[in-house]
Amino acid sequence: MQTDTIVLGAGIVGISVALHLQKAGRSVLLVDKRSPGQETSYGNAGLIQREGVYPYGFPHDFGALIRYAMNNTIDAHYHWNAIPKLAPFLWSYWMHSRASQHEAIAHKYATLIEHCVSEHDALAQEAGATNLLRRKGWMKVFRTAAQQDARLAEAARWNRDFGLNYRALDVATLRSEEPHLDQSLIGGLHWTDPVTVVDPLGLSKAYVARFEELGGKLALGDAGTLVQDAAGWSVTLTDGTKAQAKDAVVALGPWADVVTTKLGYHLPLAVKRGYHMHYKAQGNAVLNHPVLDTERGYFLAPMLQGIRLTTGAEFADRDAPKTPVQLARAEPIARTLFPLGERVDAEPWLGRRPCTPDMMPIIGPAPKHKNLWFSIGHAHHGLTLAAVTGRMIAEMVTGQKVFVDPTPFSAARFG
Ligand SMILES: Cc1cc2nc3c(=O)[nH]c(=O)nc-3n(C[C@H](O)[C@H](O)[C@H](O)COP(=O)(O)OP(=O)(O)OC[C@H]3O[C@@H](n4cnc5c(N)ncnc54)[C@H](O)[C@@H]3O)c2cc1C
Repeated sequence: MQTDTIVLGAGIVGISVALHLQKAGRSVLLVDKRSPGQETSYGNAGLIQREGVYPYGFPHDFGALIRYAMNNTIDAHYHWNAIPKLAPFLWSYWMHSRASQHEAIAHKYATLIEHCVSEHDALAQEAGATNLLRRKGWMKVFRTAAQQDARLAEAARWNRDFGLNYRALDVATLRSEEPHLDQSLIGGLHWTDPVTVVDPLGLSKAYVARFEELGGKLALGDAGTLVQDAAGWSVTLTDGTKAQAKDAVVALGPWADVVTTKLGYHLPLAVKRGYHMHYKAQGNAVLNHPVLDTERGYFLAPMLQGIRLTTGAEFADRDAPKTPVQLARAEPIARTLFPLGERVDAEPWLGRRPCTPDMMPIIGPAPKHKNLWFSIGHAHHGLTLAAVTGRMIAEMVTGQKVFVDPTPFSAARFG
């Protein structure tokens, strides 16, 4: 089979790249080893984080470090045996998270984030999927005045520096907008710009359907078979046939190394694992907004499947067996935050956020190979930035002016 472009990886990032390329008039084959949207992009918290100009950094405050050293928090957990291998990544992540570095990164990152809602809106409109989007923002809720003051001060700073909109919620307003949350909460912070997705898999499927409507093709295959040949790039598909194309885009999320390592790239990629579980609500209780339990470090998001509890970062080997201890710690607390009913899923879902140490994705040409493109490393914001990334890659591949300066996101920054 001959196409213009092969996109490897049908998560929300690869799907958005494929759709944008097909819209731009390229014939595209989207290759995955399973059906689209079933891995990391399936289980996230559904936030299109228009407020997320500061990518999630490594905490530098002493209290948090002591807590993490105990390895018994909800927001972070690590496998001791993974630490030696992860140490170089963690060190670099730590260094990039220092206040001055983080601020410099935020100013680059914001150039992507500022388009996240408008670019998803455009794709969702085209795919007939706007019914999966909610325009009510999301909330941080507080148990202590110290956190409330710190987060509101941060929001005021981000409003000043980046024009992000928020509301400070006093107790009465929080109770009236979220009447079923724990009455001992002292207030909240409502980010009003973000849009949220009530069915991330549904969004992936809708974008894929639009891609196919425009003539795009899907195939099962292993990205590890990618080879460069005289005509460009080829992949062996599961049915034994060969697919060939001039250009190939690597959008394999946490599995990018399957291709990059083989081709001689030593990118500093790692994963932060995370879990989810769905719950029914008790009685007539309703959760109107996605909510972060700020002091405890887990998230509740109302989804079509139920109320999705998502956990923070687990530092472990990508392929190590599930250890959902953060979920076990969060669940009893979440039950006091909101009247959760019975579990919906048979077992916790595990996902892997594909991370770089400078917290920014890699979007652009592969430095050592012609007609090879990277679209990886979106960490906590792969859903948020998928549509922006898709448009950027399509513009690069087709030689158009790229609507966001791609320089800060080049793989070349890692040498
Ligand atoms: C708990 C949790 C909550 C999150 N919440 C949010 C949120 O609210 N907002 C947000 O923006 N982001 C969130 N994220 C992050 C977001 O989900 C990811 O950044 C995003 O899904 C990454 O998308 P991707 O397409 O790069 O990777 P994936 O969705 O993992 O897609 C990679 C694809 O590559 C395929 N693949 C792997 N190996 C091969 C191979 N050898 N050959 C062929 N195909 C292969 C896989 O099958 C998969 O389909 C969250 C993540 C987690 C874990």
